[in-house]
Amino acid sequence: MKRNNTLWINLALAIATATTLVGQNEDGVDRSIKPGDDFYRYANGDWLKKTQIPARQQSYDTRAEITAKTSPRVRELIQEASASHSFKGSVSQKVGDYYAGFMDTERIEEKKFAPLADELARISVIADKASLSAYLGSTLNGEIDGLVANADHIFGLWINQGFEDADHNVVHFWQGGLGMPERDNYLDTSPKMAERSAQYEKHITAILGLAGISNSEIKAARILGLEIHIAQAFAPDADAADVHKQNNPWRRSEFAVKAPGVIWDQYFQAAGVAEQPDFVVWQPTAVTGISALVASESLEVWKDYLTFHLIEHYAQVLPRAVADEDFAFYGAALSGAQKQAERERLAITATNCALGQAIGRLYSQRYFPPEAKAKAQAMVANLITAYRSRIANLTWMAEATKKKAVAKLAALEVIVGYPDAWIDYSTLEVVRDDAFGNMRRAEAFVRARNLVKLKEPVDPIEWPINPQAPGAVIMFSPNAEFFSAAILQPPFFDVAGDSASDYGSAGAGMAHEISHSFDELGNIYDDRGRLRDWWTTEDRNQYRAIGEKLAAQFDGYCPLTDGCVKGRQVLNESIADLAGLLVAHDAYVLSLKGKPGAVIDGHTGEQRFFLAFAQRWRKLQSEAALRQQIANDTHAPGEFRSDIVRNVDDWYKAFGVASGEKLYLKPQDRVRIW
Ligand SMILES: [Zn+2]
Repeated sequence: MKRNNTLWINLALAIATATTLVGQNEDGVDRSIKPGDDFYRYANGDWLKKTQIPARQQSYDTRAEITAKTSPRVRELIQEASASHSFKGSVSQKVGDYYAGFMDTERIEEKKFAPLADELARISVIADKASLSAYLGSTLNGEIDGLVANADHIFGLWINQGFEDADHNVVHFWQGGLGMPERDNYLDTSPKMAERSAQYEKHITAILGLAGISNSEIKAARILGLEIHIAQAFAPDADAADVHKQNNPWRRSEFAVKAPGVIWDQYFQAAGVAEQPDFVVWQPTAVTGISALVASESLEVWKDYLTFHLIEHYAQVLPRAVADEDFAFYGAALSGAQKQAERERLAITATNCALGQAIGRLYSQRYFPPEAKAKAQAMVANLITAYRSRIANLTWMAEATKKKAVAKLAALEVIVGYPDAWIDYSTLEVVRDDAFGNMRRAEAFVRARNLVKLKEPVDPIEWPINPQAPGAVIMFSPNAEFFSAAILQPPFFDVAGDSASDYGSAGAGMAHEISHSFDELGNIYDDRGRLRDWWTTEDRNQYRAIGEKLAAQFDGYCPLTDGCVKGRQVLNESIADLAGLLVAHDAYVLSLKGKPGAVIDGHTGEQRFFLAFAQRWRKLQSEAALRQQIANDTHAPGEFRSDIVRNVDDWYKAFGVASGEKLYLKPQDRVRIW
């Protein structure tokens, strides 16, 4: 998925099943099938037969396998920290006490709503639009990245380099303040949305009632009314996500003129950004519209709105009845969940959220040793070398464009495992019996870090993902990609395992992601992540003409009697799969330094490389899930992602695939785009 200038692909890595040196590629292979007839079932037939989708799930794949293995490890690390009662101020104490505090529901229950008292008092003394503006400013908090289309409070901020200025961090500023996730939840007049709206109003009433606030029904109706006005000011979703429409530099002094309503001096003072001259306003009409509501709506309505959102924000660390009501709306009504997650799971999520890198450090120490990092880094170096040659040989890119591509490749930071410099949590105080205070202090800690960043140079290698979260992140701006320690583990990547499999799986996955920096997603960002289209029209036309051939190939895949893959919909990701496979193969060959690959379990290195690629895509899913994927997903079903091998000459050589076999394509029909 692509939104804005960051590409999150949590868990979506095109990574294949790796192996330990003693032939795990053999696991799941069905030798009764000819590789050239059905490579996916040759590589996975036995696995597909003997594996079942776990109860209550719609699918099962290698990604689910990784998650199933990682979650208990993270739980164990946190619970060990909690049991160890480490010395005050240590990373282990903070992790352990954050978790313990969250788990101590008795203590939370005892405190009732007392922890909210000071904040509620701050709201109740709001007496005019200036003090309202100041309070609103104090809620301007750091969002984790630039993907949030609806910030937690009326406006959200993200500190990152400018769209056209890679030297300075600026405040990216955007719309927010809706309690339901999307604008359409308020504006769509269908019966379904009307019902949802009614449920939300009931939820607001219930939350206010639980906190002992009088006239909760009347207040809930007025709060919903205010949110409808906020939603009316929101930018349409397509505009909100269009990076070119987000790039609106505003000077601080311009806010009062362009968006009257909020008393901006008060707002920015309270937000801690009063000294900041430059802002990038992502949805200017929304900022103008929402600001106008500060003038037009009554103080009382605003105070009720702020009170409700304050309670809602802390729902999980307030008495049980609040958390239950929170689940009844957000979990059950909105998301269709049957049952609230266990407290333990919520506590783990909350601790990860507050102290992500502290846990990441513990995780890396135990599960991703420096040797693993070194092995992954060596693979990255070979991938980059392979990309350099591939770019030089591209047929559809003009020579001048290739120079820009090579410069972008040289500047690209690909970082694996964990950060070299960890976040210093020493100023974050964590107290064992104070879940509420811990959450509030953790948020203040993030806010303070953000404000410091405004005074510092851009750090392109600041980690946007936790090492213990299986996933990867592409930051087009800055020009950097991150692969977490948790995604770099078996069956994807094995520090002690066979490198042919590492390259066919993790390597192809990384190379897939790197290719996005050079395709139609990344071609609008230059070597330093500045917004700049570096392709020519001719490059684009030629690229698209070759792409048509691949789209047609995918149009021919029909996994249901009445359903085929939509080639155009999956084209961009399929091109990335092809690029990833080709580049990873080149890199594997480079890694051999001219020596032949070992034969393991009767498979040559070349064979294990391609087998690992196909094995990454093994997946069981219900027919409903498959239909859903074909209808909406920009990635083809795994079986057809695996079939991309048909376009790779070395695959034919590795398995002796010949004319007449079902996957065989004549050399001139193989798509050559990378
Ligand atoms: Zn992709």
